[in-house]
Amino acid sequence: MKRYVYFFGKGKADGNESMKNLLGGKGANLAEMAGHPALRLPVPPGFTITTEVCTYYYEKKRTYPRELKAQVEKALAQVEKIMNKRFGDPANPLLLSVRSGARRSMPGMMDTVLNVGLNDVTVEGLIARTGNPRFAYDAYRRLVMMYADVVMEKAEGRDPARGKGIRKLMDERLAEMKRAGGFQSDTDLTTEDLKKLVAIFKDMVKQELGREFPEDPMKQLWGGIGAVFMSWNGKRAVEYRRIEKSPDAWGTAVNVQSMVFGNMGEDSATGVAFTRNPGTGENSFYGEYLVNAQGEDVVAGIRTPQPINAYSKNEQSKSLPTLEKVMPAIYKQLFDIQKRLEKHYRDMQDIEFTIERGTLYMLQCRTGKRNGVAAVRTAVDMLKEKLIDAKTAVLRVPPEQLVELFLPMIDPKLEAATPVIAKGLPAGPGAAKGRVVFTSAEAVAWAAKGEKVILVREETSPEDVDGMHKAQAILTSKGGMTSHAALVARGWGKCCIVGCAGLDIAEDNKSLRTKSGVALREGDWITLNGTKGVVYQGNLPLVEPDLNRNASYKILMALVDRMRVMKVRTNADTPKDAAQAIQFGAEGIGLFRTEHMFYGEGSDKPLFLLRKMIMSKTLAERKAALAELSVFVKGDIKATLEVMHGLPVTIRLLDPPLHEFVPHSADRLEALAQELGVDMAELEKRAEGLHENNPMLGHRGVRLGITYPEITEMQVRAIFEAAGELIKSGKKPLPEIMVPVTCTVNELTEQKAIVDRVYKEVCARVGVKKIPYLYGTMIEIPRAALTAGRMAETAEFFSFGTNDLTQMTFGFSRDDIGGFLPDYLSNKILPVDPFQTIDQEGVGELIALGIKRGRSTRAHLKVGICGEHGGDPESVKFCHRAGMDYVSCSPFRVPIARLAAAQAALEDGKKSAPKKRR
Ligand code: PEP
Ligand code: MG
Repeated sequence: MKRYVYFFGKGKADGNESMKNLLGGKGANLAEMAGHPALRLPVPPGFTITTEVCTYYYEKKRTYPRELKAQVEKALAQVEKIMNKRFGDPANPLLLSVRSGARRSMPGMMDTVLNVGLNDVTVEGLIARTGNPRFAYDAYRRLVMMYADVVMEKAEGRDPARGKGIRKLMDERLAEMKRAGGFQSDTDLTTEDLKKLVAIFKDMVKQELGREFPEDPMKQLWGGIGAVFMSWNGKRAVEYRRIEKSPDAWGTAVNVQSMVFGNMGEDSATGVAFTRNPGTGENSFYGEYLVNAQGEDVVAGIRTPQPINAYSKNEQSKSLPTLEKVMPAIYKQLFDIQKRLEKHYRDMQDIEFTIERGTLYMLQCRTGKRNGVAAVRTAVDMLKEKLIDAKTAVLRVPPEQLVELFLPMIDPKLEAATPVIAKGLPAGPGAAKGRVVFTSAEAVAWAAKGEKVILVREETSPEDVDGMHKAQAILTSKGGMTSHAALVARGWGKCCIVGCAGLDIAEDNKSLRTKSGVALREGDWITLNGTKGVVYQGNLPLVEPDLNRNASYKILMALVDRMRVMKVRTNADTPKDAAQAIQFGAEGIGLFRTEHMFYGEGSDKPLFLLRKMIMSKTLAERKAALAELSVFVKGDIKATLEVMHGLPVTIRLLDPPLHEFVPHSADRLEALAQELGVDMAELEKRAEGLHENNPMLGHRGVRLGITYPEITEMQVRAIFEAAGELIKSGKKPLPEIMVPVTCTVNELTEQKAIVDRVYKEVCARVGVKKIPYLYGTMIEIPRAALTAGRMAETAEFFSFGTNDLTQMTFGFSRDDIGGFLPDYLSNKILPVDPFQTIDQEGVGELIALGIKRGRSTRAHLKVGICGEHGGDPESVKFCHRAGMDYVSCSPFRVPIARLAAAQAALEDGKKSAPKKRR
């Protein structure tokens, strides 16, 4: 018979930690904690219903496998035996918790029901057993509240208007009762109050939801189980999975466990702790607890949690008594358990515990979530402590998290001392501060006056983009991790917090009020921690992290560099970017886009000369303009080659269609006509002549060099002269000339003839025997990949331009994908944006084929990538497997790519020992 239910408790367990796929993370760890001989921790007994049941439930129209009922009943009997209580027993009732638990933790995204098994009869039994009617009624009212919300409203697909959900209505009733009694805290409510609340809540259930609250414990249990399965496909859970890229097919397990109570008096408590500090990585036990409370009270933030020990104190909790002081024996037991857990799992653990009348219970343990700084430090410290080996340390840091080490942070000491005024979802990491504005127009206006602003909106839309861009950070009261604000901010690497539900923005867009009562007006300062998703009032000092002082980072990256096979280069267009990339560990430039010099700062003169060249009527005119322009081109290339002394620099010949450089408005064209001394009508005619219907597939890339060989000649001459002169002055330039947008080897051979001729001329003129260089091409067109065998006859290297290659393989315009990509993602037609992560099935096949065919002609063909994918960890790993020599990405992503490359080599090493490639 197939097993759907796994029991754990009293030193025994059917499952273990390795069964996460079947039991979910929580279930697998409960089994491990309860049953592993090295642990056998005090875990309240219970059982896990497998994720396969979840899959079955959805596939078979919300029904369960036939065998499930009997298996649940059998496991329940085992629990009853250990607890010496019975579920539904009027005299001695067992109470249960019903919780979700997916393979990967999805904090707060799914639902839970506690105190299952209470009704008007069993509540009396609970009172008789505990002698504590207040506690019993408090548990009962919590059950009715949770059950109504989770099982009877959410799981049944009811969608009440905002603020009209049953839980909210019940919360309001509870608050009313507190007000009427003049009470501050929930714990001030009397037994009578709570008893009344139970009755009121049950009435509300009937009125609002049209059905009675079920008194039958078994009905409650199955209702709870079904609700947890339903919550797997709840809105929050689905959205979270999309961000985390977890498959929908995984499903959740359900954990049914006997209840233990942290709210049975002053000798009871509940808490959450980490075996190390998840904010800094420091190796100190860190956590919070609340006396006489249930787990949800810690999360809800109703009372200020107390520090478990002196180390865990913060500004808000510094005067509160620690667990170590209040319950020293229990603290010691907890401390020992957390040490054992960390040693057992060899990673930082996040634990939940409850103390019921002086007895400690472990409710959960899992790998603790940590920020980037802590991830690096923990990995390196654990290596030093010999808890893990070097490979594990390198594999343990998620490459994307490295970014957090480079972002500004709030001064940690001050941050700990400042109260949080609002909390939302951490959509864009790093910290930012500025003055509050409420509209995009205000953001633009304030920024124009030189003010730093934070744009605060309910949610953002494409019309807000200008203001969002000008703002230091974006804060929204609505929306999730895939809302417009979140997507845009992530794209820009901007600090952003979304879904900050406690913010109430005034109608006139001039002020806001937080849940905790803080009022802010336009122009007031706030500071955001986008990594944590929290907001502070005022102008807190930010610190720029100094990587050179981060010893753990340096140790980790030294390991990384030893373990990777691929080189990592950078895409840089200026000596400044190049120098920065070297700091980040770049080993060369994989893409120097020559056209950068015609945009932005200092571009006036070269742009004018380029336009002059474009508008030339005759070859002689064009050559004259090119001669003037070449001074700038050479200067630029020389400066970059000099910075990259001894490292390769791939210089790409001019790529964009020429019309991109021609002014589009009439008055700008007029100005150009005047500058050039050309008649306006004539200039207009020439500009019109450049117009193309489909410029991305038009006269660009190598096609320019075919039509105007003199453009190629000028650039190649500039490169060789710059390099030759540097050689003469004792420098070591290593230029690589790269021809873009090619589709046939004939383009390459024709251009190569120019290169060969100019090379000889320059060597003679500058007076050097040899200028080391390579001649190669970008592979951006499917035909180039398919004919790579021929291309490699002339090309000495390939660089996959996966931006264009993706565009041309999918037939998706890279500039217009925003119009339809969201639908493709939400309808699951595509799993991810193919412009961010390489589509291995399609584009990846072309790359693999291109490399194979290229190397079959030229065994030592050097191969790299310079599209945006070169900094995406998944894509970097693909590039390693495809056998590339290097990846190239923007300077900030160089460390990410280095780490991803090392991880790829290690993962690959499981099959065969990684060898150094050329
Ligand atoms: C590419 O197409 O991948 C590439 C790097 O070139 P660009 O983005 O400049 O077209
Ligand atoms: Mg391209």
